[in-house]
Amino acid sequence: MSGHGEDPVGAVWGGAGPLPIPDFPVSPSSWTVADAEMSMSAHTDAPVPHVVAWNLTRRCNLACSHCYISAGAWHGGEGELGTEACRAILDQVLEVNPSLLLILSGGEPLVRDDLEELAAHAAEAGATVVVGTNGIGLTDARIESLMEAGVRGVAVSVDSLRPEYHDRFRHGGGALADTLASVDRLVAHELDFVVQTTLTRGNRHEVNGLAAWAADRGAVSFNLYFLVPTGRGDRMKGLPPEENEEVLEELVALEERYRGRMMVRSKCQPQLMRHVFEATGESPLHNYRTRCPCGVHYCRITPEGKLTPCPYLPAVAGDLTREPFRRVWEKAALFQALRHGELGGRCGRCEYREVCGGCRARAYALTGDPLGPDDSCAYDPPGDRALVRPRGEVGYGDAAEPELVWTEGARNRLNRIPSFVRGVVTKRVEAFARERGYQAVDLEVMAEVRRALPVDFSKRLPFFLERADAEEVDRA
Ligand code: SF4
Ligand code: SF4
Ligand code: SF4
Repeated sequence: MSGHGEDPVGAVWGGAGPLPIPDFPVSPSSWTVADAEMSMSAHTDAPVPHVVAWNLTRRCNLACSHCYISAGAWHGGEGELGTEACRAILDQVLEVNPSLLLILSGGEPLVRDDLEELAAHAAEAGATVVVGTNGIGLTDARIESLMEAGVRGVAVSVDSLRPEYHDRFRHGGGALADTLASVDRLVAHELDFVVQTTLTRGNRHEVNGLAAWAADRGAVSFNLYFLVPTGRGDRMKGLPPEENEEVLEELVALEERYRGRMMVRSKCQPQLMRHVFEATGESPLHNYRTRCPCGVHYCRITPEGKLTPCPYLPAVAGDLTREPFRRVWEKAALFQALRHGELGGRCGRCEYREVCGGCRARAYALTGDPLGPDDSCAYDPPGDRALVRPRGEVGYGDAAEPELVWTEGARNRLNRIPSFVRGVVTKRVEAFARERGYQAVDLEVMAEVRRALPVDFSKRLPFFLERADAEEVDRA
């Protein structure tokens, strides 16, 4: 992915032991360990982790300039968790949410021979599994084995269609040609893929062309990553805030242009939502309920088993080789701060803080405080404007209890949908059923919904709904 070194436990716990204080450097500007420890007892209703990214290794066949995990061929896998330790952690994660979206990444995850075993283990439990890779190792045989393991999609990194730029940025001669050939193989195998591009001054003018190419190749989404200065990327500068603004406006236009065909998203730059709310007219992006989800619905596991809020935010909430996932997820002071703490600086006084909130990883990289301001933003909020609230009644990531009667088959079908879209699907299916006077939701009603309207924000169903739905119709 642009971030596979880039944007998702011991088989038996030997005794619970006390919750260790997280090894997380604290900036006292807006939040302290003491505050968070107090808040731990106050907040036991932890949110659901809908997306978990797992950097399985620091090994990689490339050495990209911006890599947040500083991956490279010189790593030998030292400290990396083995298969059994990964499976044990995975079981703990799946116990908390079996239908999460699991992003298996690296480094380059294809260097791990047990990638398919881990993917299959999660998929069998009900997770939607995707893989983030630079694409170079995606041979026909590897694509087939990933698909057999239940992998639903792949994210590949393409920073430019000019080899002189892509290969230099990724530090690998011939890397672009290899990745493009892999994209052709993904198309041939009909495995859904996402194109990830890291934005720099060197490819700033290529964004439109890359999006057009991605749409032409049939990508599910074009994700543009804005630099977070962490890992090897701490030596790089992102674009100045004013240029970020221009690119975000381009992305809003691209999202409209490709709507129904391919999703277009900004990554690590939730300021996109400010542009979406400022623009007139409806956008499917209004369905997004979360600001930056890190530590709230999203977390990352490092190759060594540490849990952090997101791949770009290296502050450690807990060590999964020593503590159960559930406990760290529910209790860690860092997660409590991200869920309940007040943002500082411009983000704290901004009327868009509930729909944007800034990139917490960038705030941490630039200020040492995960609740600090995201200074890649050009907006200087006056601080006296009415809070902009999410529009949808239920947004992605929200839960929604069924209000109509659902047959067992329909409920089973619903439970196989990734948890982060389940609330939205529940509401839309019930609205559809009510409009037609149906008293209950069964498989036939769900199939009718599928035929009649898009379930997701895009007219094209994303892979995780497409296939599950097709399987259900086959069975019905
Ligand atoms: S391909 Fe690049 S960004 Fe991805 S893990 Fe390897 S070095 Fe890092
Ligand atoms: S000031 Fe912060 S919350 Fe407001 S739009 Fe900018 S990044 Fe988002
Ligand atoms: S901190 Fe939030 S916005 Fe930034 S990269 Fe992580 S998930 Fe994305």
